[in-house]
Amino acid sequence: MTADVFTTRHPFLDGKPKRMLIDGKWVEAASGKTFETINPSTGEVLARVAEGDAEDVDRAVASARRAFEGPWSRMKPFERQGLLLRLADLVEKHFEELAALDTLDMGAPISRTLGNRLRALGMLRYYAGQALSIHGETIPNSLPGEYQSFTLKEPVGVVGAIIPWNGPLTATIWKIGPALATGCTVVLKPAEEAPLTSLRLAELCQEAGVPAGVVNVVPGYGETAGAALARHRDVDKVAFTGSHLTGQKIVEASAGNLKRVSLELGGKSPDIVFADADLDAAVPGAGMAVFANSGQICSAGTRLFVERRVYDEFTARVAAYGTSLKVGDSRDPETNIGPLVSAEQLERVTGYLAMGRQEGARPLSGGERLTGGELSKGFFVPPTVFADVRDDMRIAQEEIFGPVISAIPFDDIEEVIARANRTQYGLGSGVWTRDVSKAHKLARSIRAGSVWINCYQAMDPAVPFGGYKMSGYGRESGKQHVEEYLNVKSVWIRTE
Ligand code: ADP
Repeated sequence: MTADVFTTRHPFLDGKPKRMLIDGKWVEAASGKTFETINPSTGEVLARVAEGDAEDVDRAVASARRAFEGPWSRMKPFERQGLLLRLADLVEKHFEELAALDTLDMGAPISRTLGNRLRALGMLRYYAGQALSIHGETIPNSLPGEYQSFTLKEPVGVVGAIIPWNGPLTATIWKIGPALATGCTVVLKPAEEAPLTSLRLAELCQEAGVPAGVVNVVPGYGETAGAALARHRDVDKVAFTGSHLTGQKIVEASAGNLKRVSLELGGKSPDIVFADADLDAAVPGAGMAVFANSGQICSAGTRLFVERRVYDEFTARVAAYGTSLKVGDSRDPETNIGPLVSAEQLERVTGYLAMGRQEGARPLSGGERLTGGELSKGFFVPPTVFADVRDDMRIAQEEIFGPVISAIPFDDIEEVIARANRTQYGLGSGVWTRDVSKAHKLARSIRAGSVWINCYQAMDPAVPFGGYKMSGYGRESGKQHVEEYLNVKSVWIRTE
């Protein structure tokens, strides 16, 4: 079965190679090269896409600089707000088409991508609101004599945005939104695994009236186009989402001109289930904290700590829940779990499945790639629960980025806090308990950017999201996000 949006050919997939957007024009790569992007459910080629490299990045950055220095950064807040609201309306009008493109290009089930509507539109309309709320402060000073001192908030300038493939529509909006709100300009490099939705969104930016050069999109590989953007001397800030290893390279590359950097990186987030929790809610909650998007979410709650007296029962129930989910072609509206994004990701995840068994963990469900029938051409891994996991196993320490839970027993609250924090990461975390004291204690003790209590992965445009430790720095969403795109200038006026 296929969702209605797939009964006709997708309007964006017209058989023509997809070009890149530079200075308001759709152009080929300077090298003339293209690369293929595929549907991970079937292995079929969806489109050929212009493969940008350093030369294209140069052109795009030059265009973003010209746009930044032109009328754009003098546009009134109302005008930038108007653009964001028009873009939101266009995204709303074309939402099913955009969701379908995400589904085809990176494999998230159509039920999931259609479910992103509120988030995608909410973000754009939130940034539209923020466009009117950017202001400095008048600050009293203690200098002898008479001086006025106040601050101005100014856009940082040209932003290089580098995004991953695990949610192209929302990831693109998460970078373009604050740039438009603040008056920055952007060169966005989508992930090579899933560049299509960013390109389609760039068309909608044009339709909304975003001036030429304000939003540029250069698809290409990380080591070429991405690296060129990260080291570019005329880029003022890089906003990066991806793995911590690439994040480290970005920081090194940024040193040349000491550009500002914000990083939203990986995680190995603890999800802690106390015996007093509402286990009926915690079973699907803890399950989907990892299985959603086939585990390809940086804040997935992959280290599942369960209080020992309910450990066997709870892990068995999560395994059964995982087994009940339908794994299949992401175009099927009944599918809960789609494929992994690529053959490379499949190899990585199945490598960890083998490693988990070698390390002595016991698979309660899943544990092997699925290849039967219609799944044979795609990259499918079923929801997997490993029991008997110890903290020192690699499957308990390293980010797998697949639908794999490492379930670990614990005995008391102090112990679980220490163990939950014993990781290089600090992005998300979950706590399941009916005890309000435990909930508060955990909320303050876990070293992570988000703590979800009796829920997991709740997100809102107004609530900041980001990492501690090696999960990165800077925040996305919320007022803090807009600040990441602003410089603070202090102005002194001697008034004597
Ligand atoms: P993943 O392993 O999830 O693909 P990456 O961190 O490798 O995560 O990729 C996230 C984004 O970073 C992608 O757009 C990718 O092309 C880009 N990227 C990869 N390597 C580099 C690099 N050396 N410099 C800049 N960007 C890179």
